[in-house]
Amino acid sequence: MVGGQEGRPREQLAALYEIGRALNSTLEPDEVLDLILGMTLDLFSADAGSIMLLHEGLLRIHRARGLPPEVVEKTVVPLGQGIAGWVALTGEMLLLNGRIDDPRFRNLVRRDDEISSSLCTPLRSRQGVIGVMMVRRAGSTPFSRSQLDFFASVADQAALALENARLFRSEQERSWQLAREQQKFQAIFRDMADGVLVIDPSDRIAHLNASARRLLDRAGEISGLCLAELLPRFPLELVRETLKTQSEPFEADVTLQSGSGNSVLRVTATSLGPCPVEPEGLVLLLHDVTERVRVERMKSEFLSAVSHELKTPLTTVSGFLELMLNREYDRPRQEQYLSISLAEAQRLQRLIEDLLTLSRLESGQFHLQPGPVRLDRVAAGVLSGFSERYPGFSFKLEVLGEIPEVQGDGDLLAQVLLNLLSNSVKYSPDGGEVRVLVRAENQSVRVSVEDQGIGIPRDKIPFVFDRFFRVDNSLTRSTGGTGLGLANARYIVEGHGGTIWGESPGEKGSRFTFVLPCERKEPQESEA
Ligand code: ADP
Repeated sequence: MVGGQEGRPREQLAALYEIGRALNSTLEPDEVLDLILGMTLDLFSADAGSIMLLHEGLLRIHRARGLPPEVVEKTVVPLGQGIAGWVALTGEMLLLNGRIDDPRFRNLVRRDDEISSSLCTPLRSRQGVIGVMMVRRAGSTPFSRSQLDFFASVADQAALALENARLFRSEQERSWQLAREQQKFQAIFRDMADGVLVIDPSDRIAHLNASARRLLDRAGEISGLCLAELLPRFPLELVRETLKTQSEPFEADVTLQSGSGNSVLRVTATSLGPCPVEPEGLVLLLHDVTERVRVERMKSEFLSAVSHELKTPLTTVSGFLELMLNREYDRPRQEQYLSISLAEAQRLQRLIEDLLTLSRLESGQFHLQPGPVRLDRVAAGVLSGFSERYPGFSFKLEVLGEIPEVQGDGDLLAQVLLNLLSNSVKYSPDGGEVRVLVRAENQSVRVSVEDQGIGIPRDKIPFVFDRFFRVDNSLTRSTGGTGLGLANARYIVEGHGGTIWGESPGEKGSRFTFVLPCERKEPQESEA
């Protein structure tokens, strides 16, 4: 012990060595502070002491021995105020002997405390003062000046240990944070909907996520494969060349042929290298744009179809009107020309109505005007018009069971049937039978329209309800149509809470069915 008497240099060295050893045993900042304070009190035979740490210009007691808890809790000393504040500000140490009346002690020492002397020194790190250590002694033996120097050496050692512990802690936190970031990144990489492929400098796959595997339609091991084997149409050379001179990502749409059909991937390539001049690896982001490309293509096909559809009847109408203006025709000839013009004008009107219906349905401006509707009656009404107009067909209506009312908009539901029947006629070049079947089911009414026409290839059936979609065959090319009829029918049926679908064995005949929900009336109990 160095405390009571003057500590001799050799003893002091030994004590410092001991402190150093003890402090090296832990890297927990709080444990370091506890050790420092405990050993310092022992070494200096002090009966109370504290370590205050400086944070944002305020000193607070972090560790204390022999001080009342309320003092420990409440003491907050601004830099420059009180003894501790002065020591922290000036970086000088203090030895205060005798009973301490100094008002600067007001916060740290009670008036009635018997204090013979006190040592106070700054804790200094490389960045400057980080805190203050104080010990005090009651009784009659005050600290000596040489003890003050030794106290300062202990404090230096303590500050160093504290700094190391803090450094270690912040390094530890940094590496935890890095690990957390890495986990987060891995989770994003694993779960993101877009595919990610990392290509090494020799163009081989270094990493890929599950979405990339799915988009590339590859189940087995693909790490180490060449990119060209996976995405043969990706212009890798061009991308590498471009990324040498540009820092923005390179984008390309790549068509991929796989077992499940053609898909289009938008590939965004970024260099992984430290500088864009010499790319080391590449990160490719894969986004499935098959649907978007399909819709865009359909839209442009639709636009050309619409212009054609609008132009043809207009040309006919204006041609005949011009003829009649320029020449005198007899009555039968006039009637013939006028009825052709009328039919063409009506075709034009239908097309425009289809377009308007679609745009209203799509923009949600359609308001159903529901009321009780008997679908068998609607079917009979629509069919009667067809029988007159298409004598080459045999139209049949079959009604099974007592058909309950559905709640719906009668005009719109008639429109659905009209679209289905028009298609049956349009796509049955040899005429034949067209059968409409209306059947009551448990809580719904089912309506089917069946024809003996050209049928629909199986792989095209899922798309026939898409806007603008038309099966590409010679008949659709020569028959007027916009690919809107079934899209409109689906909007209307689904707007009534129903479902609609199409079936065809492929080469001959199609059946389109829709089902609408209905509230079946429970049979009334006969009144007693
Ligand atoms: P469109 O104006 O072309 O008739 P629709 O939306 O009514 O448009 O139909 C979409 C496509 O579905 C048609 O172009 C046609 O290829 C196919 N289709 C619809 N109904 C039938 C049917 N009854 N028989 C054969 N093909 C049909």
